[in-house]
Amino acid sequence: MPQHATQAIVLHTTDYAESDRIVSLYSRDFGKLRGIAKGAKKSLRRFGSSLEPFTHNQVTFFDRDTHGLVRLERCQIMRAYPEISADVKKLVLGSYLLELVDTLTAEKEPHPEIFDLLQFFTGLLIGKVFREELLRLFELRLFCYLGYQPQFQQCMLCRDQFKLQECYKFSVHRGGIVCPRCQGQVPELLPLSNGTIRLFQHAQGLDFAQLSRLYFSQIAHDESRRIFGRFLEFHIGHRPRSLEILGQLS
Ligand SMILES: [Zn+2]
Repeated sequence: MPQHATQAIVLHTTDYAESDRIVSLYSRDFGKLRGIAKGAKKSLRRFGSSLEPFTHNQVTFFDRDTHGLVRLERCQIMRAYPEISADVKKLVLGSYLLELVDTLTAEKEPHPEIFDLLQFFTGLLIGKVFREELLRLFELRLFCYLGYQPQFQQCMLCRDQFKLQECYKFSVHRGGIVCPRCQGQVPELLPLSNGTIRLFQHAQGLDFAQLSRLYFSQIAHDESRRIFGRFLEFHIGHRPRSLEILGQLS
Protein backbone atom coordinates (compact mmCIF):
# COMPACT_ATOMS: atom_id res chain seq x y z
CA MET A 1 0.00 0.00 0.00
CA PRO A 2 1.70 3.28 -1.05
CA GLN A 3 2.56 5.76 1.69
CA HIS A 4 2.36 9.52 1.08
CA ALA A 5 3.25 12.69 2.96
CA THR A 6 1.83 16.19 2.55
CA GLN A 7 0.74 19.27 4.46
CA ALA A 8 -2.98 19.41 5.20
CA ILE A 9 -5.56 21.50 7.05
CA VAL A 10 -8.29 19.71 9.01
CA LEU A 11 -11.76 20.59 7.71
CA HIS A 12 -13.98 18.30 9.73
CA THR A 13 -13.70 15.41 12.18
CA THR A 14 -16.35 12.92 13.29
CA ASP A 15 -16.22 9.94 15.61
CA TYR A 16 -16.44 6.56 13.96
CA ALA A 17 -17.20 3.21 15.55
CA GLU A 18 -15.80 2.62 19.03
CA SER A 19 -12.35 4.08 18.80
CA ASP A 20 -11.73 5.72 15.42
CA ARG A 21 -12.29 9.11 13.85
CA ILE A 22 -13.07 10.04 10.26
CA VAL A 23 -11.25 13.18 9.18
CA SER A 24 -11.74 15.42 6.20
CA LEU A 25 -8.58 17.34 5.29
CA TYR A 26 -7.52 19.70 2.54
CA SER A 27 -4.00 18.78 1.50
CA ARG A 28 -1.50 20.75 -0.53
CA ASP A 29 -0.55 17.91 -2.88
CA PHE A 30 -3.61 15.67 -3.11
CA GLY A 31 -6.57 18.03 -2.69
CA LYS A 32 -9.32 16.94 -0.32
CA LEU A 33 -8.71 13.69 1.56
CA ARG A 34 -11.05 11.70 3.73
CA GLY A 35 -9.15 9.54 6.12
CA ILE A 36 -9.61 7.19 9.01
CA ALA A 37 -7.56 7.82 12.14
CA LYS A 38 -7.44 4.46 13.90
CA GLY A 39 -7.69 4.63 17.67
CA ALA A 40 -7.90 8.45 17.68
CA LYS A 41 -11.13 8.53 19.68
CA LYS A 42 -9.94 6.21 22.42
CA SER A 43 -6.39 7.39 22.85
CA LEU A 44 -4.86 10.84 22.42
CA ARG A 45 -1.37 9.37 22.32
CA ARG A 46 -1.09 8.98 18.57
CA PHE A 47 -2.96 11.96 17.15
CA GLY A 48 -3.27 14.31 20.14
CA SER A 49 -5.16 17.47 19.17
CA SER A 50 -3.97 17.33 15.56
CA LEU A 51 -7.44 16.39 14.27
CA GLU A 52 -9.13 19.58 15.52
CA PRO A 53 -10.64 21.71 12.69
CA PHE A 54 -8.28 24.41 11.28
CA THR A 55 -5.12 22.56 12.44
CA HIS A 56 -2.33 22.64 9.89
CA ASN A 57 -0.48 19.33 9.94
CA GLN A 58 2.27 17.43 8.24
CA VAL A 59 0.35 14.27 7.41
CA THR A 60 1.51 10.78 6.52
CA PHE A 61 -1.10 8.42 5.11
CA PHE A 62 -1.57 5.15 3.26
CA ASP A 63 -3.77 5.09 0.20
CA ARG A 64 -5.21 1.75 -0.79
CA ASP A 65 -6.74 2.91 -4.05
CA THR A 66 -7.79 6.06 -5.89
CA HIS A 67 -11.23 6.10 -4.20
CA GLY A 68 -12.41 5.85 -0.63
CA LEU A 69 -10.80 6.55 2.71
CA VAL A 70 -7.07 6.87 3.21
CA ARG A 71 -5.53 5.55 6.44
CA LEU A 72 -3.95 8.32 8.47
CA GLU A 73 -0.68 7.17 9.92
CA ARG A 74 0.69 10.33 11.52
CA CYS A 75 -0.39 13.98 11.90
CA GLN A 76 2.31 16.31 13.13
CA ILE A 77 0.99 19.77 14.10
CA MET A 78 2.67 22.63 12.22
CA ARG A 79 0.21 25.29 13.39
CA ALA A 80 -2.79 25.03 15.72
CA TYR A 81 -5.45 27.74 16.07
CA PRO A 82 -6.87 27.68 19.62
CA GLU A 83 -7.62 31.43 19.18
CA ILE A 84 -10.35 30.56 16.66
CA SER A 85 -12.16 28.02 18.85
CA ALA A 86 -12.03 30.45 21.78
CA ASP A 87 -14.01 33.15 19.95
CA VAL A 88 -17.55 32.33 18.77
CA LYS A 89 -17.58 34.87 15.92
CA LYS A 90 -14.20 33.74 14.59
CA LEU A 91 -15.26 30.11 14.95
CA VAL A 92 -18.42 30.66 12.87
CA LEU A 93 -16.59 32.69 10.21
CA GLY A 94 -13.81 30.12 10.06
CA SER A 95 -16.23 27.21 9.98
CA TYR A 96 -17.74 28.76 6.89
CA LEU A 97 -14.33 28.75 5.15
CA LEU A 98 -13.85 25.09 6.02
CA GLU A 99 -17.40 24.13 5.03
CA LEU A 100 -17.07 25.92 1.72
CA VAL A 101 -13.85 24.10 0.82
CA ASP A 102 -15.27 20.78 2.03
CA THR A 103 -18.49 21.22 0.03
CA LEU A 104 -17.09 22.60 -3.21
CA THR A 105 -14.01 20.44 -3.73
CA ALA A 106 -13.79 16.87 -4.97
CA GLU A 107 -11.63 14.26 -3.27
CA LYS A 108 -8.10 13.71 -4.58
CA GLU A 109 -8.19 16.56 -7.07
CA PRO A 110 -5.10 18.63 -6.24
CA HIS A 111 -5.40 22.43 -6.17
CA PRO A 112 -2.38 23.70 -4.18
CA GLU A 113 -3.70 27.24 -4.62
CA ILE A 114 -6.84 26.31 -2.60
CA PHE A 115 -4.63 25.01 0.21
CA ASP A 116 -2.67 28.31 0.14
CA LEU A 117 -5.92 30.32 0.09
CA LEU A 118 -7.33 28.44 3.08
CA GLN A 119 -4.06 28.73 4.98
CA PHE A 120 -3.85 32.48 4.32
CA PHE A 121 -7.45 33.23 5.31
CA THR A 122 -7.19 31.03 8.42
CA GLY A 123 -4.19 33.16 9.37
CA LEU A 124 -6.27 36.32 8.83
CA LEU A 125 -8.94 35.00 11.18
CA ILE A 126 -6.67 35.20 14.20
CA GLY A 127 -5.98 38.90 13.55
CA LYS A 128 -7.78 41.54 15.59
CA VAL A 129 -10.67 42.06 13.20
CA PHE A 130 -11.88 39.72 10.48
CA ARG A 131 -14.28 41.72 8.35
CA GLU A 132 -17.16 39.68 6.94
CA GLU A 133 -16.48 40.99 3.44
CA LEU A 134 -13.29 38.90 3.46
CA LEU A 135 -15.62 35.93 3.10
CA ARG A 136 -16.77 37.34 -0.25
CA LEU A 137 -13.18 37.60 -1.44
CA PHE A 138 -12.51 34.05 -0.26
CA GLU A 139 -15.61 32.86 -2.16
CA LEU A 140 -14.61 34.78 -5.27
CA ARG A 141 -11.11 33.29 -5.32
CA LEU A 142 -12.36 29.78 -4.55
CA PHE A 143 -14.93 29.95 -7.37
CA CYS A 144 -12.12 31.05 -9.66
CA TYR A 145 -9.80 28.16 -8.70
CA LEU A 146 -12.60 25.65 -9.21
CA GLY A 147 -13.39 26.94 -12.68
CA TYR A 148 -16.69 28.73 -12.20
CA GLN A 149 -15.58 32.24 -11.58
CA PRO A 150 -18.40 34.79 -11.91
CA GLN A 151 -17.86 37.00 -14.93
CA PHE A 152 -17.68 40.76 -14.32
CA GLN A 153 -15.78 41.87 -17.43
CA GLN A 154 -18.42 41.42 -20.14
CA CYS A 155 -22.13 40.75 -20.69
CA MET A 156 -22.85 37.01 -20.49
CA LEU A 157 -25.14 37.18 -23.55
CA CYS A 158 -23.79 39.63 -26.13
CA ARG A 159 -20.18 39.57 -24.79
CA ASP A 160 -19.92 43.37 -24.95
CA GLN A 161 -17.20 44.65 -22.61
CA PHE A 162 -18.26 46.34 -19.36
CA LYS A 163 -18.86 50.09 -19.74
CA LEU A 164 -19.10 52.39 -16.75
CA GLN A 165 -22.04 54.36 -18.20
CA GLU A 166 -24.23 51.21 -18.57
CA CYS A 167 -26.46 49.73 -15.86
CA TYR A 168 -25.86 46.00 -15.31
CA LYS A 169 -27.57 43.22 -13.40
CA PHE A 170 -26.28 39.81 -12.28
CA SER A 171 -27.60 36.47 -13.51
CA VAL A 172 -26.93 33.55 -11.18
CA HIS A 173 -27.86 31.06 -13.93
CA ARG A 174 -25.53 32.67 -16.46
CA GLY A 175 -22.82 33.27 -13.85
CA GLY A 176 -22.14 36.90 -14.60
CA ILE A 177 -23.30 40.38 -15.51
CA VAL A 178 -25.95 41.15 -18.12
CA CYS A 179 -26.06 44.47 -19.99
CA PRO A 180 -29.28 46.58 -20.27
CA ARG A 181 -29.92 45.48 -23.89
CA CYS A 182 -29.93 41.77 -22.91
CA GLN A 183 -31.72 41.96 -19.56
CA GLY A 184 -35.15 41.22 -21.12
CA GLN A 185 -33.92 37.77 -22.22
CA VAL A 186 -32.83 36.52 -18.78
CA PRO A 187 -35.13 35.83 -15.80
CA GLU A 188 -34.25 36.37 -12.12
CA LEU A 189 -31.71 39.15 -12.39
CA LEU A 190 -30.17 40.61 -9.25
CA PRO A 191 -29.26 44.27 -8.88
CA LEU A 192 -25.56 45.08 -8.92
CA SER A 193 -24.03 48.54 -8.95
CA ASN A 194 -21.06 49.45 -11.12
CA GLY A 195 -19.00 50.25 -8.02
CA THR A 196 -19.33 46.63 -6.87
CA ILE A 197 -18.55 45.33 -10.38
CA ARG A 198 -15.41 47.47 -10.47
CA LEU A 199 -14.39 46.20 -7.05
CA PHE A 200 -14.57 42.57 -8.21
CA GLN A 201 -12.80 43.33 -11.48
CA HIS A 202 -10.01 44.86 -9.43
CA ALA A 203 -9.97 41.96 -6.92
CA GLN A 204 -9.39 39.37 -9.62
CA GLY A 205 -5.84 40.55 -10.30
CA LEU A 206 -4.63 40.86 -6.68
CA ASP A 207 -2.48 38.55 -4.57
CA PHE A 208 -3.79 37.35 -1.18
CA ALA A 209 -2.21 40.13 0.87
CA GLN A 210 -3.55 42.86 -1.46
CA LEU A 211 -6.94 41.14 -1.48
CA SER A 212 -7.15 41.19 2.31
CA ARG A 213 -6.67 44.98 2.32
CA LEU A 214 -9.69 45.68 0.09
CA TYR A 215 -12.55 47.55 1.74
CA PHE A 216 -16.20 47.36 0.69
CA SER A 217 -18.80 50.11 0.74
CA GLN A 218 -22.06 49.16 2.48
CA ILE A 219 -23.68 48.75 -0.96
CA ALA A 220 -20.89 46.46 -2.18
CA HIS A 221 -21.15 44.49 1.04
CA ASP A 222 -24.92 43.96 0.73
CA GLU A 223 -24.91 43.27 -3.02
CA SER A 224 -22.02 40.81 -2.94
CA ARG A 225 -23.45 38.90 0.02
CA ARG A 226 -26.77 38.45 -1.80
CA ILE A 227 -25.21 37.59 -5.17
CA PHE A 228 -22.57 35.15 -3.92
CA GLY A 229 -25.07 33.55 -1.55
CA ARG A 230 -27.43 32.84 -4.45
CA PHE A 231 -24.58 31.83 -6.75
CA LEU A 232 -23.35 29.34 -4.17
CA GLU A 233 -26.81 27.88 -3.57
CA PHE A 234 -27.21 27.48 -7.32
CA HIS A 235 -24.00 25.42 -7.52
CA ILE A 236 -24.32 23.27 -4.39
CA GLY A 237 -28.11 23.05 -4.15
CA HIS A 238 -28.44 24.31 -0.56
CA ARG A 239 -27.45 27.11 1.75
CA PRO A 240 -24.29 26.30 3.75
CA ARG A 241 -25.09 25.51 7.40
CA SER A 242 -22.42 27.82 8.81
CA LEU A 243 -23.72 30.71 6.68
CA GLU A 244 -27.12 30.17 8.29
CA ILE A 245 -25.54 30.33 11.78
CA LEU A 246 -23.53 33.41 10.77
CA GLY A 247 -26.77 35.14 9.68
CA GLN A 248 -28.32 34.42 13.09
CA LEU A 249 -25.21 35.64 14.88
CA SER A 250 -25.17 38.91 12.93
ZN1 LIG B 1 -25.57 42.13 -23.48
